[in-house]
Amino acid sequence: MREDEIIYIRVNPICDQSFGCQCGKLHIANCSNGLSVITVNWIRGNKKALATIIPTSYWNKLRNMLKFEQYDIQAAYKIPKREAGITYIVLRKIHYNVMRFNNAIEVDEAEGLCM
Ligand SMILES: [Zn+2]
Repeated sequence: MREDEIIYIRVNPICDQSFGCQCGKLHIANCSNGLSVITVNWIRGNKKALATIIPTSYWNKLRNMLKFEQYDIQAAYKIPKREAGITYIVLRKIHYNVMRFNNAIEVDEAEGLCM
């Protein structure tokens, strides 16, 4: 996910209705396999994040953090850079291209499924 998207899903209210609802809040489905599907609907120009899939435990940790801001994201960026010599942005692009390999998912789907 992009920085702004992470901050957006951390603070945006959660709707108590199901996925058919059209309101501007987040809609969450906690699956029995330990993953949560989150409708994001974050659109800024040609950048869009319609939904994401995240381990439910991480989702709960993110929502329960008392403070989370750009400083924390910048600190997290340093970990893959230090440990693997690769930036978070490159990791995101690799993930995108893996998902796009052999058209496993379409461009619009890959663009919409934020990673
Ligand atoms: Zn709703």
